[in-house]
Amino acid sequence: MFKRILVANRGECAIRIIRSCRELGIESVAIYTQEDAHALHVKKADKAVLIGPDPVKSYLNIHRIVDIATELGCDAVHPGYGFLSENADFAERITSAGIAYIGPSPSAIRDMGDKTRAREAMIAAGVPVVPGSDGALGSLDEALSLAREMGYPVMLKAAAGGGGRGIRRCNDEGELRENYEITRREALAAFGDDAVFMEKCIVQPHHIEFQVLADQHGHCVHLFERDCSIQRRNQKLIEIAPSNFLDDELRARMGEVAVRAAKAVNYVNAGTVEFLVDADRNFWFMEMNTRLQVEHPITEAVTGKDLVAEQIKVAAGLPLDFTQDDLRLFGHAIEFRINAEDPKNNFLPTPGEITRYHSPGGFGVRVDGCVYPGYVIPPHYDSMCAKLTVWGPTWPLTVTRACRALAEYDIRGVRTTLPLYRHIAKSEAFSGGVFHTGFLDEHPELLDYQPYERREDIAAAVAAAIAAHAGL
Ligand code: ADP
Ligand code: ADP
Ligand code: MG
Repeated sequence: MFKRILVANRGECAIRIIRSCRELGIESVAIYTQEDAHALHVKKADKAVLIGPDPVKSYLNIHRIVDIATELGCDAVHPGYGFLSENADFAERITSAGIAYIGPSPSAIRDMGDKTRAREAMIAAGVPVVPGSDGALGSLDEALSLAREMGYPVMLKAAAGGGGRGIRRCNDEGELRENYEITRREALAAFGDDAVFMEKCIVQPHHIEFQVLADQHGHCVHLFERDCSIQRRNQKLIEIAPSNFLDDELRARMGEVAVRAAKAVNYVNAGTVEFLVDADRNFWFMEMNTRLQVEHPITEAVTGKDLVAEQIKVAAGLPLDFTQDDLRLFGHAIEFRINAEDPKNNFLPTPGEITRYHSPGGFGVRVDGCVYPGYVIPPHYDSMCAKLTVWGPTWPLTVTRACRALAEYDIRGVRTTLPLYRHIAKSEAFSGGVFHTGFLDEHPELLDYQPYERREDIAAAVAAAIAAHAGL
């Protein structure tokens, strides 16, 4: 087993990994920038190394990270999610330095990282993929003729896209003409690659993804699904496991396809195969994320498996110590991504100082966070500052517990998605348990909540308004 792992990430993600290291008796090494000197992951790791002054580029400095791992005698590196987690060159450089990379091989990252390449590999493996273009689009004319053939609406998507960016829906020819160049430019700016492809737009789809786990000895299992249909701007907000939309038969069939997808690229370690499922329960492969996923805690809650510990053991060469038949689903879980953003203002990020912080607790409640009173959320990163995961034996009891935990949660100083979640969790639309990706658009009333739920919040808001008016 490894002795020392470098965690190439920050925030709640780094803390999550450090926790599993500690339970396995492995030392953890954190990296941080000057601005992150007061970040929690720095305090929780056994050792922390300053990597550089730039708040973003430093965490992406492959050369420096490999040097630190070598100098400190780390025998493995965990990339987490975001940052370098889907960078095949990073995985390659780590491995060439004689250090284990806790993730799949560089070639599997490359095969799945480009969505057009992934589609080709999946078609070859007999996995149903969303109907669309063969590879990247060569011209607007090609896009127009393909769309005419498939029928509108269609989606333009960046081949190298991620994080919900570089995706545009086109409802007719006019919109396709308008969006074609815009999407290419956006893709180039965000991902350094202007390749764009087309997919048929699946109307009112369910985003259902399967967690897979494969060891270096040819065993590959799935740990059931997560339903991530509650989104804003094609990005996940609330995820549940299992999906209330699947029955056991479809679950088994999709799970088998997810394992086949992973095996087709000789996948090793943890990964996620994302599907779209339509109202008639047809399903299509959308993409594979070759890393740990933000929403992994709900899978941990319903399967009892520590996914990060499993990742580490697999990377150390150990065989999985359970089979597909050993895996069972226990109850239900919901994850709420607590983002420092204002849902009432188009989910605009709200970085700033946390003035008060009380996290919920009790049976079936888990918080993965990185903030504390006095902590200043920096503007440079993802706006997610904590994740609340609740578990319950049945769906209705899980929703009740979610309402209870959300009510206990108290974050002041910056606006967050918490009041929206309190409102959603109490709604019939949510407690019904079945939703598609248009959930928030279809329920605009859910955004019509009172952002100030406590008397002192109202008093503070009134005082701030008077002060602003008086020019104080
Ligand atoms: P998907 O690619 O399907 O959206 P996830 O929902 O798991 O998958 O999101 C990964 C996203 O998490 C990244 O694109 C990034 O925006 C965000 N992220 C990256 N690093 C961190 C981190 N350290 N803490 C929290 N969020 C992060
Ligand atoms: P990312 O890499 O940014 O996670 P995905 O390809 O996983 O991108 O798509 C993100 C989200 O965009 C999906 O969960 C879904 O809501 C929407 N989406 C993507 N492709 C389609 C499609 N062909 N039809 C309908 N919705 C789609
Ligand atoms: Mg995705």
